[in-house]
Amino acid sequence: MELRWIDVLRFATYSNPEPPRRVRQSAAAWARQLKPAEFRVLRQKETEPPYRNAYCRVYELGQYVCAGCGSLLFSSTAKYHAISGWPSFTQPCTKNAIRYAFDDSHGMQRVEALCSVCDGHLGHVFPDGPAPGGLRYCINSESLRLILP
Ligand SMILES: [Zn+2]
Repeated sequence: MELRWIDVLRFATYSNPEPPRRVRQSAAAWARQLKPAEFRVLRQKETEPPYRNAYCRVYELGQYVCAGCGSLLFSSTAKYHAISGWPSFTQPCTKNAIRYAFDDSHGMQRVEALCSVCDGHLGHVFPDGPAPGGLRYCINSESLRLILP
């Protein structure tokens, strides 16, 4: 089933689908495990620079997993060229791969996309993606790892 913007708003407003498992550890443990740039995105919600990131222009077939906990997030078949400077996807791999939360930071009203398993910040989701779902998941490369088949 394709997720649509109304589903994203419902998840962010009421409750997100139950994740398949949960990974929780302290900030200090994450800092030891992750590279500094990954830590800044996943745990401190920073945004990496547009275009100068690993997966913006990558269209190889594979699966994108969370750089924090290894959970499957996106398939390369859902990746498309959004001209945003960041890797963009139309749908997550599964309905419960992503957790959604309203984000009012930086004077904008956005919906944050987080890994449902480890709660790592991935990026944001917008309602200006391609048909039929109409979603654009704008994701930091630092939060992803591409697993080639
Ligand atoms: Zn994760």
